[in-house]
Order: sequence, then structure tokens, then C-alpha cells
Amino acid sequence: MAQDMRHPIESGCPDGFQYMHPSMRRNYGQWKYHEHPRPGVLLHVAHSGDKLWTVKCGTQRILDVFTLRKLTEIGDKFADGYIRFTIRSNVEYVVTEEAKVQPLIEAIEGAGFIVGGTANSVAMISHTQGWLHCDIPGTDASGVVKSMMDELIDEFKNCNMPNRVHITTSCCQINCGGQGDIAINVQHTKPPKINHDLVANVCERPTVVARCPVAAIRPAMVNGKPSLEVDEKKCICCGACFPPCPPMQINDAEDTKLAIWVGGNHSNARSKPTFQKLVAAGVPNNPPRWPEATAIVKRILKEYKEGAKDWERINDWIDRIGWPRFFEVTGLPFTKYHIDNWTGARNSLNASTHIRF
Ligand code: SF4
Ligand code: SF4
Repeated sequence: MAQDMRHPIESGCPDGFQYMHPSMRRNYGQWKYHEHPRPGVLLHVAHSGDKLWTVKCGTQRILDVFTLRKLTEIGDKFADGYIRFTIRSNVEYVVTEEAKVQPLIEAIEGAGFIVGGTANSVAMISHTQGWLHCDIPGTDASGVVKSMMDELIDEFKNCNMPNRVHITTSCCQINCGGQGDIAINVQHTKPPKINHDLVANVCERPTVVARCPVAAIRPAMVNGKPSLEVDEKKCICCGACFPPCPPMQINDAEDTKLAIWVGGNHSNARSKPTFQKLVAAGVPNNPPRWPEATAIVKRILKEYKEGAKDWERINDWIDRIGWPRFFEVTGLPFTKYHIDNWTGARNSLNASTHIRF
């Protein structure tokens, strides 16, 4: 009988509307225009005449409960009691009176946070969960983000870039690394080392074999125990076998590096999506401050800031000047790692006799 049917258990995100500022709820889909009165602040004006100021503040993303309380207390005292988190881990406070904006900014900055990240600034670097939630990181993405944002603080607080800059980091080579204007991703440089004593107890071997994108893994008997073997000539060191089979250790302090990619863009109103391209490989994965990776990111940003025309994103700028010029101005070496020499790459290379533009 229909009325006796079990109700589905909803286990996704709760409905966001219940947490919205009442003015946002009231004017949902009814905004007339928005302005950017100063870095870190947006003003939205609704058809109803309601005005809403949003103040954006950067956080370290992985928040302890004390920091979270501090942020919510600021919201209760200086904003209208509502905060929200953006996908780049920024906190946004909303107020309906202009007179509240300056005291709110002072309270945020007084508590040690930074206001910014809007319009043509370097937005907060988005990063993946890393050590805290995930089982396969090759680096500490939050640490990379903190070190870089400490050095890019002026670019976050001011709007000096030709257009927005979205930077992403990823702590393994296969999963969360997003399409960013600049992406700092883990790069494994050696095939996994297999602990044959553990494979039979820990791993579902068919799952692991199926996981390899280049069919480099085969079942094998080693010392009388069922295990796996890797054809190291085929292996592209992607690390995809490590999550389903931790005895296939691929992270290591020496051979796990960082790589920097640029020009990724999920599409926007003006252009098609673009894939990011590798520009620096084998960068040391060097905690706690990752100075080498940070220096490269800063060098790319400096050249982009000086060389791009207004509104050009990094991919537009490179399209206009060309890759040879990009390597020339940034001083990054063009090495053998920039050439996609994997056998399957034939499909992605311009390998036909037809000239394409
Ligand atoms: S990038 Fe990889 S290691 Fe990091 S959180 Fe995502 S899946 Fe986990
Ligand atoms: S690292 Fe990647 S390519 Fe190498 S064996 Fe594992 S899954 Fe296959």
C-alpha cells in the first residue's frame, strides 16, 4: 500500500534556503544588478529595492572549532547573524545596511582575518581535503595553500590582476585537482613499490587490475602468495592503484614531486572550456613552506599581471602570446616532461598530416 511505503532517507546536503539571510531568500532570482564598491565587498540591488552588502573574508579552510566560533561571533555581533562558506573556503557575511560594512570589516581584520578575494584579485586557492579526510594524499594541500596565500596576501586584498585568478591544489595525481588558471598538483615519478606479504589480505586484486588506466598491473604469485605485479615500462606513475591497494605504496619523500599547470578554465560567458597544460614538473614537494612551488606561481602571476590585457584570463593571455613566449617571459625551462610521449597520446596530439589551427 502506497501510504505504508517507507519514506526515502535524505542524506545529501540540507536545503540551503533555511540558512539564507532573509533578504537573500526574499529576493532570490530577483536581483537587478550588482556593484563592487571595494575589494572584498559586493553590493547586490534587488528589483524590490532591497540592498545587500556581502563582505568576503579568507580562511585557512580546515577550521578548528575555536576559529569557527570566532567567525560566527563576528557574524552575530557585526553582521546580521548569518554567514556562508564559498566553494573556495571563504566566509561571506551579509548585511542590509551600508553603515554596518566598515565596522564589520574592522572586526574581521581585528580578529586576524583578511577581507578580499572579489573581482580581479587572486581568489583564495581552492584545495582538496588532504591528510584530514582522505587516504591517498602525496602532499599536504592545506599547507601548500597556506604558504602560498601568505605570500599572495596583497593580491587577495587588492584587485590588481587583469582578471580573476583561480588557483587550485590537489594532493594526489588522480582525483580532486580542478581546472584552475594555475594548478599545483602532486606528481609521482616512480612506479609503486609492492609489499607482497600484504596484498592478498588487503586488496581485491581484480579491482586493482581494473583500476590501472594503462593495463600495467597483472595478477601474480609471489613467494607462494597471490599478489600483483606492475609492468614498469607501461606504468605512468599515476597512483590510481594505491587507493584500492595501500600495499602498492607510491608516495615517498624523494620521488613524490609537485607539478604546476596553467590555463585551465571551466568555460565562461565568452570562451569555451580549456584544459590546463603542464609548465613546471619535478618541483620539490618541500614542506613546511614549499618555497620552490610558491616562487614559480609568483613568477607566472607577475608576468601575467604585466603582460595581459584587461579582462584576459591566464589562458586567454597565453593563447594570444603563444606558448614559446610564455616560457620565455616566465623563464621556466621547457623540458622533456612537457612532451606527452605516452603511447596513447596519439589521440590527443596533432599527429595527422592535416594542418589544424
Ligand atoms: S586530491 Fe586526492 S588525496 Fe587529495 S583529497 Fe582529493 S582524492 Fe584525496
Ligand atoms: S601507478 Fe597508475 S599506471 Fe602505474 S600501475 Fe598503478 S594504476 Fe597503473
